[in-house]
Amino acid sequence: MLNAFGNIKIRVERWSMADLNKELKKHASRIVDILLREYPDAEISLKYSDSFELLVAVILSAQCTDDRVNMVTEMLFKKYRTIEDYANSNSKEFSKDIASITYFNQKAKWIVDTARYIIEMHRGEVPSTMEELLELPGVGRKTANVVLQHAYGETEGIAVDTHVMRLSRRMGLVEKRNRDAIEVELMKIIPRKKWRRYTHLMIAHGRAVCKARNPKCDSCPVGEICPSSWVYAEADLSNGKLWKKNGKK
Ligand code: SF4
Repeated sequence: MLNAFGNIKIRVERWSMADLNKELKKHASRIVDILLREYPDAEISLKYSDSFELLVAVILSAQCTDDRVNMVTEMLFKKYRTIEDYANSNSKEFSKDIASITYFNQKAKWIVDTARYIIEMHRGEVPSTMEELLELPGVGRKTANVVLQHAYGETEGIAVDTHVMRLSRRMGLVEKRNRDAIEVELMKIIPRKKWRRYTHLMIAHGRAVCKARNPKCDSCPVGEICPSSWVYAEADLSNGKLWKKNGKK
């Protein structure tokens, strides 16, 4: 089984950590440049009209598709127009309103509790710092990063969702498996001005080409520099498993 740095690490195994970091930065830069050309319009696909709606949509989107979330929020945002509407809602009814979303009972509780907390502690305004956002029920660094970037134009980190985790490991950019640890690794090799774009490029590529099952390595624009491509490599570095014929798992 290969480690997550795969071919790159093997190539530079006699180098110092500084050399490895430099090599990874170059590798990351090449990947980002290629994907920027491939997906020039990659952006957030969740629909919202204010910071609280964005927060609701991001909480709902954990382990659920953005298309499904947008379908549900189209109705939800008409029914619940203010943060007070969420805070005063009947939790059973609210759960029913989002019942087609994964983990809807838990997410309903988080959203209602978050609305109440924001009213009580922040006078009804979604907080604008990482520290304060992380105090909200159901909010981790991924959600906080998305809210900061898209509601406040602040970039504190890289939003790491399942696509970002899978692709970053497959492409040999990170070694860790834990979401927060992956974010730290990425922040060391991706320039800060590209942190926000990086997330949306990975999501776009993960949806279109580098899918969890049966990625299209034979037509992938980064195939020649990807250490997981089943065209050249034996293993998928996202999980260390060997590819079967034609990349099928
Ligand atoms: S070559 Fe394959 S594994 Fe690598 S990024 Fe492209 S689709 Fe994903």
